[in-house]
Amino acid sequence: MVIWLVRDTCRVTDNPALHRAFQIAQTRGAQVLALACLEPRRWADQQFGLSRVGSHWMRFRAESLRALRQELEALDGGLWLSSEEPVYAVNRIQQQYSVITLVCDEPVATEERLEVARLEAEGYQTVSVFVDDLFRFEQLPFDLDELPATFSKFRKVVEKKPSLLPDRPIDSPTVGGCIAQGWADPAEWQEALEIPLDPNTEVPTHGGGESANRHWQAYLDAGALSHYKQTRNAFQGPMQSSHLSAWLAHGCISPRQIWWDTLQYERDVEANESTYWLRFELLWREYFRWYSRASDWTLFRRTGPSDQVFGFDQNVRRFERWKTGHTDCDIVDAAMRELNQTGWMSNRARQLVASHLIYESNLDWRLGAAYFESQLIDFDVASNWGNWAYIAGVGPDPRGGRIFHLDDQADRYDPDGSYRSRWLL
Ligand SMILES: Cc1cc2nc3c(=O)[nH]c(=O)nc-3n(C[C@H](O)[C@H](O)[C@H](O)COP(=O)(O)OP(=O)(O)OC[C@H]3O[C@@H](n4cnc5c(N)ncnc54)[C@H](O)[C@@H]3O)c2cc1C
Repeated sequence: MVIWLVRDTCRVTDNPALHRAFQIAQTRGAQVLALACLEPRRWADQQFGLSRVGSHWMRFRAESLRALRQELEALDGGLWLSSEEPVYAVNRIQQQYSVITLVCDEPVATEERLEVARLEAEGYQTVSVFVDDLFRFEQLPFDLDELPATFSKFRKVVEKKPSLLPDRPIDSPTVGGCIAQGWADPAEWQEALEIPLDPNTEVPTHGGGESANRHWQAYLDAGALSHYKQTRNAFQGPMQSSHLSAWLAHGCISPRQIWWDTLQYERDVEANESTYWLRFELLWREYFRWYSRASDWTLFRRTGPSDQVFGFDQNVRRFERWKTGHTDCDIVDAAMRELNQTGWMSNRARQLVASHLIYESNLDWRLGAAYFESQLIDFDVASNWGNWAYIAGVGPDPRGGRIFHLDDQADRYDPDGSYRSRWLL
């Protein structure tokens, strides 16, 4: 048995890990077993007294896994779901089958790396594949310990090398035949599937590749990409930014596909600064993935990867006011209420509420990062903790942190106050 360990990649198309699993299985005369674990360390655990996953994220992940199972069933296979840590689930499978190898995506942060180490310590052979990155490590012109210190330097290095392009997306495997699931599904999964989508959500995001592709196609068909750079900072509007983040974070759509689709759009429709800018933002996502790998556990400490002294506290009352949207700063309160109700917040609003938590509420930045982790539908460890560290000045920001003038920002991006009145009612 070759196990494909599903972590954050809920799709079969453009999935090099699944291909690799089938390849190994073929050469070894084995079969593939697809396994996804709803690890208790995330689904049931806490950090700073906050749950690690929120209901919006749970619903989206459960739907994405259901869609993945359907995609695998179409290939004559199935998806095994477990509520255990991978090492226990794999031990259980080992009692029934002989496990040759585990194939998984290349760990992006400390817990994921330790998960693989635990499996190896148990005697399993593992193969890690770059699945949700634009680039494979071998493509990059630097080692991880020489990762450019800032995003701008990273982007320049990457863009200066014309041959450095994301791999072209690959089709679903055609060999087929994952083993159908052999045990009952966890209750947590069933419960998560029953969580309703909030009707106030800007874009009705349902987990799964089909809904991801439908949304992305509609975005392209509407020509929204042609105006992306001018509109992406808006607080509201379904076509102002791409709204792809949840589907990217749960691996329902591949970043390489988005990249190549924008190039196709430039050939078929038009090429301008906006059409380039979506790739620019995907490079931010990419940078934070490599930054997280390079920083490892230091990304989660108070002084951050850059080891800056950071003096703010964890005052419970101030944190409660920020969390619940009662800071007396309208734009922050509106955005926090949107987050709490829908699991979503625009990029600009995320920057503003982060600036408030750190520089006005004077709180430890990690409280904000942990709270986002517990609420965001699109939580992604590298993008979340990387952006928080960046704004707090303990990450890869050459300016040593970002302080936003909140009233000016609100006037600029919500000139008629409609976003604020929508959420402050
Ligand atoms: C404090 C803070 C926390 C954040 N936490 C997360 C998180 O947990 N998960 C997450 O996916 N994004 C996070 N972001 C990045 C960004 O806010 C979201 O990706 C974006 O708002 C999602 O909306 P969109 O898909 O419409 O983005 P678009 O503007 O359409 O961008 C397209 C894609 O590019 C990527 N991207 C854009 N901006 C960034 C960025 N600054 N950093 C990394 N990737 C980016 C995302 O994958 C996004 O889907 C955070 C930003 C801040 C300031």
